[in-house]
Amino acid sequence: MTEGMGRFQAIKDWTPGYMNVTPAHLDIMAECTACGAQKEFSREKLPSQLRHAQVDDVEKRLKCASCGAKAGKLRFGYFVDEKGTK
Ligand SMILES: [Zn+2]
Repeated sequence: MTEGMGRFQAIKDWTPGYMNVTPAHLDIMAECTACGAQKEFSREKLPSQLRHAQVDDVEKRLKCASCGAKAGKLRFGYFVDEKGTK
């Protein structure tokens, strides 16, 4: 859970395809499809050889810190604050 940044609103059924074409204003959340854990994904921490990789290839390398499953999906979207502005 990410506290203090509001709720993450993913764009449904959408991915940019490649990491480097992800619009800069979008936030990325890594979600474990096995246990549901979510963690904000920082593209700055992506190794340089993966910065132009397919989103699918990055997902294959994700490992859940909570349950250890390799079932990560990247969700693209934005944080909405709790004040109700959308
Ligand atoms: Zn998990």
